[in-house]
Amino acid sequence: YYQLLANPVHEDGKIIGIVLLILDITEKHEAEIRRKEFSANVSHELKTPLTAISGYAEILKNNLAKPEDIPYFCEKIFNESARMTALLNDIMILSKLDENQIETVMEPVDLLQIANDVKERLSVLGKEKHVQISIEQQGFPTTVTGVHRILDEMIFNLCENAVKYNKENGSVIIRITGTYQGSEEKCVKLCVIDTGIGIPKEDLDRVFERFYRVDKSRSRDTGGTGLGLSIVKHGALLHHAKVELSSIPGTGTTVCLSFPTT
Ligand code: ADP
Repeated sequence: YYQLLANPVHEDGKIIGIVLLILDITEKHEAEIRRKEFSANVSHELKTPLTAISGYAEILKNNLAKPEDIPYFCEKIFNESARMTALLNDIMILSKLDENQIETVMEPVDLLQIANDVKERLSVLGKEKHVQISIEQQGFPTTVTGVHRILDEMIFNLCENAVKYNKENGSVIIRITGTYQGSEEKCVKLCVIDTGIGIPKEDLDRVFERFYRVDKSRSRDTGGTGLGLSIVKHGALLHHAKVELSSIPGTGTTVCLSFPTT
């Protein structure tokens, strides 16, 4: 996409020439399309829980619920509002990452500490799904330079997916290693390895897109916003980290983040 700008050049009150500017606005145009698509998706995603909430609230307001059904309706309202909160939280983080509005004070952050925190926060979900979460650290340093809140969000999203899309009695390993070049440490690598349902080959490239889900109903049932991996991708860009995803359907998925240490 191009934009043409023409400006006359004056001398002694006369036009002596024209400056033509041809601007390449492809990137701006594509960003505009992405923004429009995103707004349409957000409206759709918010509408679903809102319709449910107002439906259940109306039944309660009009005393149409049998007394024994009231706790069920209240729980539905609670769950749907929790889903909206999660969605709004993800949208806010993503738009901040997008507009480079994250406080870019980079500081030393210990990934092992985040891994321990995340493991703790997912322990209830892990128990519910009978999925074992463990951490392996193989003697490498575990500290990177980054923004704690974003790194936490990225690792949480990866581990939450690894639990959510796992199988009964499956496992999740958070493995922190590194690579060395000569005696110099080159990167800190954090991998989340699961024994879950896996991702079909044809979806591998698309799962990092906003609101892309392999199985829409499964993602919604487990409270997924469809934004988790987008946040991982944008957070990785902020940290100059590399993201690698490999998956075998029916066997499991591994996602690795490699952080430069310089
Ligand atoms: P969601 O909130 O739906 O989990 P994500 O952006 O985190 O959104 O992931 C996008 C989609 O990628 C998910 O809906 C799911 O289909 C697939 N996915 C992500 N992580 C895994 C995983 N570890 N195992 C299997 N499928 C996964």
